[in-house]
Amino acid sequence: MNIIEIENKHTSGLYTKQNFAIVRGKGASLWDSDGNEYIDCSSGHGVANLGHAHPKVAAAVAEQASKLVTLFETFPNDQRAALMEKLTALTPGLDRVFFCNSGTEANEAAIKFARLSTGRPGIVAAMRGFHGRTLGSLSATWNKKYREPFEPLVPEYTHFAYNNIAALEKAVTDRTAAVLLEPVQGEGGVYPAEPAFLQAARRICDERGALLVMDEVQSGFGRTGRMFAYQHYEIVPDMVCVAKSLAGGIPMGAVLLGPAVTNLGPGLHGSTFGGNPLSCAAAVAALTAIQEEDLPRQAAEKGAYLMEKLRALNLPTVREVRGLGLMVGIELKQKVAPYIKALQEKRIIALNAGLTTIRLLPPLVITYQQLDAVVAALAEVLATDFETEKRNQADE
Ligand SMILES: *Cc1c(COP(=O)(O)O)cnc(C)c1O
Repeated sequence: MNIIEIENKHTSGLYTKQNFAIVRGKGASLWDSDGNEYIDCSSGHGVANLGHAHPKVAAAVAEQASKLVTLFETFPNDQRAALMEKLTALTPGLDRVFFCNSGTEANEAAIKFARLSTGRPGIVAAMRGFHGRTLGSLSATWNKKYREPFEPLVPEYTHFAYNNIAALEKAVTDRTAAVLLEPVQGEGGVYPAEPAFLQAARRICDERGALLVMDEVQSGFGRTGRMFAYQHYEIVPDMVCVAKSLAGGIPMGAVLLGPAVTNLGPGLHGSTFGGNPLSCAAAVAALTAIQEEDLPRQAAEKGAYLMEKLRALNLPTVREVRGLGLMVGIELKQKVAPYIKALQEKRIIALNAGLTTIRLLPPLVITYQQLDAVVAALAEVLATDFETEKRNQADE
C-alpha cells in the first residue's frame, strides 16, 4: 500500500484527507512524494512563520535532542530559563509565563487562571471566535459545528458581536472572570479588531474587575506585522496565549501573565511536557531567528504588497480583501471550497476561514516571486464564477 492508502485505512475520520502526501519542506515550499513543488500559504494553520526546515531551529533541536529532551518544570533548566527571559522581554508588563503544548491548552490554562485570580466563573468571548477544542476552550469557541455535538459545555460563557463596544459593555458583568479575544479573528473569517474596540475592551475590563486575555495563537510571532497583534493597539492585556509558531514548528504553547494574574499556587495547574528542554531550545532558536530576520517588518511589508496586488485585481467574484500583515482574507460572494481546490491544482496550498473567505497565512519568509505566483494563480482561479458555471451545467 502507498502512503495515502495506509492513511485512509487507519485515519480516525476526523480529517478530510488530500490525495497527495507531503514529505519535505523548505522556506515557503513543500514537496509531495512525487517531487511536485507547492507554495505553502497555510503554514500548517500559522505554525511555520519561519518557513519549513529552518536551519537554526533544526540545529537547535538536533543539539538539544542529544543533550536533554525531557524535564519536569520543578527542575530549572538552562534552555527554559533562556526562553523565559527571551519571551517575556517581548511582552512588556507580562513577566511570568506558564508553558504547555498547544493553543487550546494555553486558552484552557488562561480560563482557569482567570477564575483563580478573580474568584468569578464567567467567560465573555466573541461571535466568530475560535479558541480550541478542549471543553473549556471549546465553550469559548463560537462555531456551532464544533460545539453542538459536545454539549452541555462549561456554564457561564457568553458571546457578543466582535468589534461592537456596546455589546461588550452589556456582556461583562460582576460575574465575568475574563474577556477572551483574538486581536485578529482567524478561523472566523480574518477580521482585525478595530483600535477603539480593543481599547474599550481594556477599559471595560478595568472598570468591572475582569481580566483581558488575548488569544494570539494564530496572530502571534510576527504574523500581523508586529511581534504580537495586540501591540498594534496600545493596550497591555492581562494574559497573552501563544502556541502555533512559538517553537518553530515543535509543539509548544504558553500563557504570558501580567500582575493581575494571582493565586497560582503549587499544583493548582500543570503540564507533564510543558517547558520541556527540547521545545524550549527550539523556541529560543525560533525567536532569535524571527528577530535576526526582522520577520514582523517582513510580514508588514509583504502583507501590504499582497493585499494591494489582490485589491488591484478588482475581480467581480471578490467582496473584500482584508487583513493585517500576512494574515490575509479574501472574502468571496460565494463558497470558497471549489476555489481552494482549483488553487491546489495550481500547486498553491491555501486555507478557508468560514464558508466564503480564502485565508492566506504564508510563512513570513515567502519570497516576492512566490507572492507574485500566488497572485497570478488567484487572478486566474477567481476569474471563474463557479456557482454560475454549476448552475449552467445543471440547466444543460
Ligand atoms: C489554532 C488556534 C487555537 C487552537 O490551537 P491548537 O494548538 O490547535 O489547540 C486556538 N486559538 C486560535 C486563535 C487558533 O488559531
